[in-house]
Amino acid sequence: MSKRLETEVWSLDTCAGCGLCVAACSKQVLAWAEGDHPVVEKRTKTVGYTKTNFDSCTFCQHFCEEACPRLQRWAPLESRSVLAASARGPVKSGAPNDVIRAILTAGRSSGLLDGVIMLDVNPWSLEPVARVVTTVEEIVSAMGPQYLWAPVFDALNEAVFEGGFQNLAVVATPCAAQAIRKLKSSTNPRLQVYQEVIRLTVAIFCTGIYKPEVVEEVLVKRMDVAPEQVKRLEISPDREWMRAVLWDGSVRTIPRQQAESFTRTGCGSCDDYLGESADIAIGTLGAPEGTSTLIIRSRTGDIFVRNAIQMNLLETTHRVDEAALAAAAEEKDRRARAQAFKDLQILMLDALADPLKRGEAIQQFTRLYRTPVRPGVLKEVRSGCTGC
Ligand code: SF4
Ligand code: SF4
Repeated sequence: MSKRLETEVWSLDTCAGCGLCVAACSKQVLAWAEGDHPVVEKRTKTVGYTKTNFDSCTFCQHFCEEACPRLQRWAPLESRSVLAASARGPVKSGAPNDVIRAILTAGRSSGLLDGVIMLDVNPWSLEPVARVVTTVEEIVSAMGPQYLWAPVFDALNEAVFEGGFQNLAVVATPCAAQAIRKLKSSTNPRLQVYQEVIRLTVAIFCTGIYKPEVVEEVLVKRMDVAPEQVKRLEISPDREWMRAVLWDGSVRTIPRQQAESFTRTGCGSCDDYLGESADIAIGTLGAPEGTSTLIIRSRTGDIFVRNAIQMNLLETTHRVDEAALAAAAEEKDRRARAQAFKDLQILMLDALADPLKRGEAIQQFTRLYRTPVRPGVLKEVRSGCTGC
């Protein structure tokens, strides 16, 4: 089985739950079960009268590792422009999902796209689901990402192999955009089919996504809101509150702490709030009331946004509070330090088994935790040091 996923992702609780490893697995031995990450299905072989377990991943090129965004650290793609945007249609609104709707509708209508893989929810139960939407009507009626987790790439093979779509957008969380970036950097010919058809990635700003149980345990039991009443869920950029905007126009808010235990474990070590690997990232942070911030990070993103403006479905201004975005990036540094600590843990475990790695572990530890030492203190330590 994939040792790297096991030791560097799953055992450290950093799995983002994107599902790309499951989609890319050529032997279809990865699957979702209970828990925070996929599992390798155990397969047995009958020899004579006995059944023996065998390694399901023998002779595999480990496509899962080529796809997993958690096996790499990502530098942010540079932003080309930062805009405040609101949708003029199909729904006139500045909410992030309506702005996404405008961009996708324009892309679909002008033939830039023939399908979209998106995080969505069932509007009656709020059950999260990964979906392929293909028509403008489906784009308009989808609720879009609501900070409720489903492995978005569960819909990838349906779109690529059953739907035969050639021009796909992926609308999800920043980690899904990282996964596509990882996939696109692979030189493995088997993954080319995915690389060629995914044209656009759109990521919502994200400080963490919730397990589906949050609907019953928090919305229903603590907020007294029935799932079908909810038009959209919002999370404050500073992680202070969670808000349900209802179809009747009213709003229910609770401190986010009350929902914190339902956040996916892997989000704890995530260092990407602003969709730094996506063609387009979107959220409310930094935007004037009634609009959303769009961070465009690639030429493709630029094309899609210009197309929506030209089709009169989107209007934009430059009035974005970029200092607020910069402050959010600082929060990322805090998380990056947490990740560096986890990397050090792996190295120390390796060093227990491999003496050659001990020097590397000590160097890494020193780099992370070295504090300036006052000369007097240094002298004291030197004089009493036993060389332990
Ligand atoms: S982060 Fe995504 S690709 Fe990596 S192990 Fe988790 S589900 Fe699989
Ligand atoms: S915080 Fe958001 S982007 Fe990061 S792992 Fe969680 S869902 Fe993915």
